[in-house]
Order: sequence, then C-alpha cells, then structure tokens
Amino acid sequence: MEMNLKIAVQKKGRLYDGSMALLKECGIDVSNGNNQLRVQAANFPVEVFFLRDDDIPEYVQDAVADIGIVGENVVAEKNKEVTGVEKLGFGKCRLSIAVPKTGVIKSLNDLKNKKIATSYPLILGKFLSEKDINATIQEISGSVEIAPRIGLAEAICDLVSSGSTLFSNELYELETVLKSEAILISNKKLSADKQMLLDKLLFRIRAVKKAKNNKYVLLNAPNDKLDEICKLLPGMKSPTILPLAESGWSSVHSVISENDFWNVIEALKANGAQGILIIPIEKMII
Ligand code: ATP
Ligand code: MG
Repeated sequence: MEMNLKIAVQKKGRLYDGSMALLKECGIDVSNGNNQLRVQAANFPVEVFFLRDDDIPEYVQDAVADIGIVGENVVAEKNKEVTGVEKLGFGKCRLSIAVPKTGVIKSLNDLKNKKIATSYPLILGKFLSEKDINATIQEISGSVEIAPRIGLAEAICDLVSSGSTLFSNELYELETVLKSEAILISNKKLSADKQMLLDKLLFRIRAVKKAKNNKYVLLNAPNDKLDEICKLLPGMKSPTILPLAESGWSSVHSVISENDFWNVIEALKANGAQGILIIPIEKMII
C-alpha cells in the first residue's frame, strides 16, 4: 500500500477556506464534497481528515493525523506535544480581554477579584498569573461576548479580528493576551518517509507564501538613472535589464516585497521610471 501523509484540517469554520486554498495552491487537489470526513488527494500522497479544530492538536500528538492546520490559539490552549512547523499567514486574530464600555474596569489592575468569562482558561490563567492578577476564570464554550450583559462575568477574554463583535456588544478591548494565525503542526515522531513528504509539502507552502509576499515589477527607465533604479530593486539576484527600441531607455524586470511596495514605487517614479507594471507572482522558488 502506498504511504500517505495524513493531514487534519477544520471541517467547517473560519480556517476551512484558507486551509483548502493553501492545499490547492500547493497542487494538492481535495474537496470534502458530500460532507466526507476523509478524502484522498488525487495527485499527492496526502489524505485529508476534516475535524473540529479543537481536536486537531490531540490527534496530531497521538499520530491519528501526522500534521494539521489549526489556529495558534488552539495549539496554545490545548497544550499538546506537537511541533509548530510553519505559520501560514491566514486566520489572523488575537485573544483579548474586553470589558463593558461604560463599566468600572478601566485597566488590568481593575480586574482583580473580578470574574472573566472565556473559552481559553489555560492561556488566560497563565497571562493573569504572569501579571499577578487574582481573578476568577469562568469557562464557557461559546457566546462569550454576552457574558457581561447576562451577569455571568464582569469581563471576557475572547478572539477578536475586526472588533465588530465587541463593538456591537458595547465592549471595549482592554488588552491583547495572544496574537494568533493558522499554523502547520506536526507529530513529534514522524517516520523518515513521512518527514520526507512533509518536507516536500513545506517546500510548496513556502513557495506559495513567498509569492504572496512579493510582486513582479516591470518598468521603463532612462539609462542615466539605471544605477539609482537598480539600487531600489535588488531583485532575486539583481534586476534584469534589457535595452528598449527607443534609444536611451531600458526595460527593467525585478521582484519587490509587498511590505515596502508603495515606498519603492514612489522612489522609482521619483527617479524617472515610467510604464510601471506590477504583476502578481503565482509561485516563487529561490
Ligand atoms: P469548530 O467547529 O471547528 O470547533 P470553532 O467554532 O471553534 O470551530 P471558528 O469560529 O471557525 O472555530 O474559528 C476557528 C479559528 O479561526 C479560531 O480558533 C482562530 O484561530 C481563527 N479566527 C480568526 N479570526 C477569528 C475571529 N474573529 N473569531 C474567532 N476565530 C477566529
Ligand atoms: Mg472549535
């Protein structure tokens, strides 16, 4: 029987789309059509299990799955023996303490002897003891944001991304406890064969991530400004420069990082670059 790398992903929820899109971009063709819980990829020795996100760390620890895609928040809360392999750049959120806007709690210190509702008792407990705050943790499994309104707790500790849920519940974010994004985790004792498959997958994931963080840039530059323009555009080795039919001008091809994109574009224009084209990169292998 051919060996498969077993990968656990969230069955449905906020990480489902990002996980499936990532696998697809890595050339791994799966879908859980017909609500299947276990799907074999067509073109890579991978079998995907669709699970509740809370169960993924334990299944990876116990080798039910070899690897998994899950939020760092869940990994931290479940506290299982797994290896964090690669952050994946989606599912970004933060675990924050929030309090009613009009209440008496204005600072972390005001939380002393108060009750905080959360689905993350372990992470919150560690945070409070580091800050030396003695508060009661009320563990609840969902609808955390209504706890203050129904008199269950004076504060909450819950996941936030845009903050709109807090806003509509008249809560205000007091402190970030943990920043999180989706992460690839693996079992601590993968066999050599499985490790090889994971390395292959990881190579593809990194190429996809790198491509997302970079853009291909094509522009026309006056020859007397080429030095300045090349300094702005290091490219993968150095920019490619080709003479244009119009004398005194060259075409410059390079790659720039998403992070300093707008600053570089402004500097290029200021140095006489014209006809700047920015093109998305699909995969990037260095
Ligand atoms: P499951 O049914 O699999 O247990 P769930 O209801 O626990 O799902 P989701 O709400 O789908 O979980 O969230 C999954 C993960 O998405 C979270 O653990 C977190 O890592 C991430 N996430 C990103 N933004 C948010 C957000 N605003 N609120 C909640 N989770 C978020
Ligand atoms: Mg869950």
